[in-house]
Amino acid sequence: MTQKFDVVVIGAGPGGYVAAIKAAQLGLSTACIEKYTDKEGKLALGGTCLNVGCIPSKALLDSSWKFHEAQDGFAIHGIGHSGVTMDVPAMVGRKANIVKGLTSGVATLFKANGVTSIQGHGKLLAGKKVEVTKPDGSTEVIEAENIILASGSRPIDIPPAPVDNNVIVDSTGALEFQAVPKRLGVIGAGVIGLELGSVWSRLGAEVTVLEALDTFLIAADAAVSKEAYKTLTKQGLDIKLGARVTGSKVNGEEVVVTYTDANGEQNITFDKLIVAVGRRPVTTDLLAADSGVNIDERGFIFVDDHCTTSVPGVYAIGDVVRGMMLAHKASEEGIMVVERIKGHKTQMNYDLIPSVIYTHPEIAWVGKTEQALKAEGVEVNVGTFPFAASGRAMAANDTGGFVKVIADAKTDRVLGVHVIGPSAAELVQQGAIGMEFGTSAEDLGMMVFSHPTLSEALHEAALAVNGGAIHIANRKKR
Ligand SMILES: Cc1cc2nc3c(=O)[nH]c(=O)nc-3n(C[C@H](O)[C@H](O)[C@H](O)COP(=O)(O)OP(=O)(O)OC[C@H]3O[C@@H](n4cnc5c(N)ncnc54)[C@H](O)[C@@H]3O)c2cc1C
Repeated sequence: MTQKFDVVVIGAGPGGYVAAIKAAQLGLSTACIEKYTDKEGKLALGGTCLNVGCIPSKALLDSSWKFHEAQDGFAIHGIGHSGVTMDVPAMVGRKANIVKGLTSGVATLFKANGVTSIQGHGKLLAGKKVEVTKPDGSTEVIEAENIILASGSRPIDIPPAPVDNNVIVDSTGALEFQAVPKRLGVIGAGVIGLELGSVWSRLGAEVTVLEALDTFLIAADAAVSKEAYKTLTKQGLDIKLGARVTGSKVNGEEVVVTYTDANGEQNITFDKLIVAVGRRPVTTDLLAADSGVNIDERGFIFVDDHCTTSVPGVYAIGDVVRGMMLAHKASEEGIMVVERIKGHKTQMNYDLIPSVIYTHPEIAWVGKTEQALKAEGVEVNVGTFPFAASGRAMAANDTGGFVKVIADAKTDRVLGVHVIGPSAAELVQQGAIGMEFGTSAEDLGMMVFSHPTLSEALHEAALAVNGGAIHIANRKKR
């Protein structure tokens, strides 16, 4: 007999698994289809984020930062030691254990919420049916009132540097190195390239980042990008802008990469090369020819602001649709879709999705950049507060960077919060909460912040918008 559900989700990444749990919580009979298996061949839920993305990369970033601090950051606190070593397989093993704990946690949550977990490849057929191809090759068709496509994304390959999973790897391979490469190349100075480059640089690799664009971190506020470039370069990342990779040749255990820059053609040799030039949506064998779901010119499933596809009752969320490829964006879209299936009028505020880069210092922002606002002709007031003037940052010996608050010059409404510095990801979230409620810079300035905290830098930057910062000289006079 054909199984029938209220909701069937294809893909158990942060978009799909969150949507499935929410649907079950709202009383809808729900199944989630996932095909990904771990190295032991077992079904692993959680998608890119939990298995090979957000979580494993942060585990390695945290381990490598502790190593870096133990090497160079303890003496100032009066702590001496006779030598610090790094056991790379142990570090990578710790990461694997965290991944295992979290992915099996999703399986437990599925059970606790009554989500039916189905292992296999899901394909949308016409007439709100899904064909599941099981690991043994058998197929089954299930029916659903509502179908959510959450098939995610995968790394983009580039012909000049084909991944061989030995010398040339993508982001997944870069999480699995068993030794620190002496010379590491990274193609792409985006979020993933900078984070993974930082991990291996902190452990001693000579890291060269080749970026085709002339501009560094173009999506970030220009003041933040400038500071980030300065700091990351000082940390040892050799970031070559305007360097377009045109070819590569693997010779045994090394690779010679050819690129062109303002000075013409260059060659550089690496022991490992990470290709981190972006990700593309996964729609391989996802849609039957007559499914009726449209794909846009870039390969993303076409959806409206509510993640509705061209077929009523079929939705698509996360990396497989337009917008930023971020786990929290995927999850919130999943929740929005399910609540709307239940008849709620849930909307998502796409203007307030925070972005974070987990380098050190962290880089995070929400809302618009000063240059974008100026290009739109919006007059703004800007307040900036450096962590060098924060008592808490000094106590932690972590004083790089600043908080920048941008407010509408006419209304004082906060339009952007940009942070480079310690705990930037957490600080920006406070800005996001305020902005969601339409905060003005004055409102933020009038709130009581605990002392001593890094958050006080946000308070002071908000005060500085109208020339009222206490712990720095104000550029703008009241
Ligand atoms: C190295 C790295 C670091 C990252 N760090 C961050 C970060 O710090 N913060 C952040 O917000 N984002 C980060 N991201 C991005 C984040 O991982 C993605 O935006 C997020 O996972 C997207 O979620 P999703 O549910 O749309 O898709 P995915 O997580 O890609 O999940 C899709 C799932 O669908 C499954 N699937 C696909 N097709 C089928 C099918 N036909 N049948 C069955 N199953 C199918 C896949 O196996 C996969 O498990 C990072 C990504 C990488 C690679």
